[in-house]
Amino acid sequence: MKFIPMDKAVYTFSKEHEPVEHVSPGEVIILEAQDALGGQVTSEDMPLDQLDWSRVNPATGPVYIEGAEEGDTLVVDILDIEVPDRGVCLVVPGHGALSNHEFKSKTKFAEIRDGFVIYNGVKLLLQPMIGTIGVAPSGDPMPTAVPYKHGGNLDCKEVTIGARLYLPVAVEGALFAAGDLHAVQGDGELCVAAVEIPGKIMFRFNVIKGRQPSWPILEYGDHFSIMTSDESLDKAVEYATLEAVEAIMKATGWSFEESYIFSSLGVDVMINQVVDPKKGVRAVIPKSIASIDAFLK
Ligand code: CA
Repeated sequence: MKFIPMDKAVYTFSKEHEPVEHVSPGEVIILEAQDALGGQVTSEDMPLDQLDWSRVNPATGPVYIEGAEEGDTLVVDILDIEVPDRGVCLVVPGHGALSNHEFKSKTKFAEIRDGFVIYNGVKLLLQPMIGTIGVAPSGDPMPTAVPYKHGGNLDCKEVTIGARLYLPVAVEGALFAAGDLHAVQGDGELCVAAVEIPGKIMFRFNVIKGRQPSWPILEYGDHFSIMTSDESLDKAVEYATLEAVEAIMKATGWSFEESYIFSSLGVDVMINQVVDPKKGVRAVIPKSIASIDAFLK
C-alpha cells in the first residue's frame, strides 16, 4: 500500500505543485498528516507568539489521481483515521467567533483514550475528522486555510470515517491533498481551533467522468451535504440553499417553487465553521429525496 509521509506538505492547493505520488482509481493509500500547527506546539507553556505561521495549515500531497481530468468528479472515501493519544487546543487573541473580545493566549492539551477525548476532565466522544481536504483549482493557488469550491479548509465535523466526499476536478490528476485532523470539533469551530492532531488517514479514490458538482458534496449516513463558503455567512447560506433547491428539482421533477418549499421542510442548513477566511455551511438533504446524480452537472 502506498504511504505518503507528513513531510510531503504543501500550504496551497495549486496546479503548479509537483505530485508526490500517483494513485489509480480504486487503490487504497495511507496519507500521514501533521497537525494544523505543523507540530510546533509541544508544551502548554509555549508562548504562541513564537509560532512560525508559515508552517501552519500544512496539507499532505498533492496526489495525482490517474484518469482524473477537468470536468470530472474525484470521489474520496475516508476509510480510516488513526489518531495519537494527545491533541492540542488553543485560543489566540483576535481569532474566533469572539475575536472582538479581550482574552489571552491559552494552550491546552487534550488526552485521547478509549474512544474519548478528555478536556479538563470532561469526556467527549472521539470523532476524528479531516479539516482540510481538496484538489487544485484551475486558477490562482488557494491557501490551505481557505475553504471554497475546490474543498480546502472545510472544517466540517462529518468529514470523518465512513464519509465519501465528491470534489470537482479542475486540473489533470486532480492534485489532491489533505491534513488538519481534529479528534473532535463542534459545528462552528468557535474558538478557531479544535483538538488538533497529526495522524494517518486511509483513503480510496475513484473518478466519475464528465460530470461534477458545483461545490463539494459530502455523503455521510442517510444524507448528502452541499458544502458552500463565503466571507459572508448569509451568502454561504444562499449558495447552499440555491444548490439544494436545484438538486431537489432535478431529483423530483418539481418546480422551483415546490422545491423551494420543500427546502424549508426537509433540508437542514448547518454551520461548518465561522472562523476561517471564508465561513462555511452545509445544506443537508436526506437520501430519500435525492441520489448523487442530482448534484452532478
Ligand atoms: Ca481547519
